[in-house]
Amino acid sequence: MPLTAWILGDQLSLTGAALAAIDKDRDVVLMIESLGRARRRPYHWQKLVFVWSAMRHFAEELEGQGYTVDYHRWQPGAAPALQAHLDRHHPSRLYLMDTAEHGRAAALSALAKRLGAAIEVTPNNLFLSDRAAFQEWAQGKKTLIMETFYRRMRRQTGLLMDGNDPEGGAWNFDKENRERPPAGHDFPTIPRYEPDAITRGVIDYVNAEFAGHFGEPGDFAWPVTRADAAAFAADFLARRLDLFGPYEDAIVVGERALYHSLLSPLINVGLLDPLALCRQAEQRYYAGQARLNSVEGFIRQLIGWREFVYQVYHLAMPGYPARNFLDADIALPDFYWTADTRMRCVADAVSNLRRTGVNHHIQRLMITGNFALLAGISPQAVNDWYWFAYLDAYEWVVTPNVIGMALYADGGLLATKPYAASANYINKMGDACGDCYFNHRQTTGERACPFNSLYWDFIDRHAERLAENPRMNLILAQHRRKKDLPAIRARAAEIRRRLRDGDDL
Ligand code: FAD
Repeated sequence: MPLTAWILGDQLSLTGAALAAIDKDRDVVLMIESLGRARRRPYHWQKLVFVWSAMRHFAEELEGQGYTVDYHRWQPGAAPALQAHLDRHHPSRLYLMDTAEHGRAAALSALAKRLGAAIEVTPNNLFLSDRAAFQEWAQGKKTLIMETFYRRMRRQTGLLMDGNDPEGGAWNFDKENRERPPAGHDFPTIPRYEPDAITRGVIDYVNAEFAGHFGEPGDFAWPVTRADAAAFAADFLARRLDLFGPYEDAIVVGERALYHSLLSPLINVGLLDPLALCRQAEQRYYAGQARLNSVEGFIRQLIGWREFVYQVYHLAMPGYPARNFLDADIALPDFYWTADTRMRCVADAVSNLRRTGVNHHIQRLMITGNFALLAGISPQAVNDWYWFAYLDAYEWVVTPNVIGMALYADGGLLATKPYAASANYINKMGDACGDCYFNHRQTTGERACPFNSLYWDFIDRHAERLAENPRMNLILAQHRRKKDLPAIRARAAEIRRRLRDGDDL
């Protein structure tokens, strides 16, 4: 009797642990497209196309390598397809790689057992850090410092290490990474991948079956095969990596990528290997083709932040998505879906998202995330929105970034202080304030930028809780000296009332 490797849509790696457990000449790969979740949640239509098309191309790739693939399209759920697979192939054992999402492997194992199959869950080898080691390191700590974790990962991988010391004499070059691009700067174009017959078939199905889902109707140009993903990454390394660092925190209206890599959708489904990407980036530094502050910054995102949020998520589950340290309770405003707001930075982020399925990190953190934090929007509503609206979103990566990083709803487990900022920051890092209806220099008055009064109102409302955090001392001292607090409170209350009532902003 053969063995089966059951491969999920975010496990499209040739080195995944379940695939490694079977023999391609004797055994079978099982893949199931499940419509259940997609019907319940308004995922961006490009996400549905991306995942299903990437799965079909992966099946084709495996068949090209001699594997037998039992592929089930458009299933209402996993159970009927799994039953059909068991009836046809009678595997002696199913191998499933542990899921990145908490509890999913357990649920699928329970299903398999209910149907009478023997199933073994193998450890997930698509991440670089070890869950048990992280839990031991985290034990007893109230706040987890990413930088400490990152240095351990640098030592573990040997990336940018000069013996025991960091390359260039420092672990972190963030101070060099806060430039604003000059006006009219020409950003590199992003390569496009025209849909082939497989992708076109998926697009037609999604258009017909998921018509009301989020996202601007338009073209789909993401890579969906391993070869195209590698070419997309090579283009980033050659044309954008060198300036990744300096413009990492910038915001430019109409630009979804700047010098960011746009690789997260591909890494998160297993089409790209994060460690291999880091080694390629490191190589470009040693070859004199990319500056150290850029290469270090890129590597920190992958072996630092990405691994860190994955581990914090598993540490804090199952209760993490429900955390609400700041008792925020306003419903998600409609403009998060429609982009219909006079705040130009928010409108630009949401319209980019509607068109392309992504925003760069600063738009996610300092525009849509920051607004939700300052205004007091329900963390659960915001978490759902980021999950449904983005092409690269999976629970393990959305939840810590939203609940922990953007909204401080975990009380500081993941971030050492709230990422709260007024329009001053947004104006410093980009060009959105220039032509905005609101005035970024004003805090009160009908045309004052909402970020300003909401910022001081946020500090005001949470002063007591934030006082426990020494990193907030400076801002709390400024808050105590503010003379115009009554006017700020009134303006913020009016904005929050408008948000509650669904009025324009
Ligand atoms: P780059 O800037 O080029 O960075 C390189 C890579 O580093 C990324 O591809 C990604 O794999 C990794 N990375 C960087 N920062 C993070 C981080 N904070 N967490 C995890 N990985 C990171 N990332 C997702 O992959 N999926 C999400 O759904 C997601 N939601 C987010 C929600 C919020 C509120 C915030 C603040 C961040 C979120 N991120 C998410 C993290 C980050 O914004 C994206 O990974 C990044 O913008 C993807 O674009 P890029 O590939 O061009 O990244």
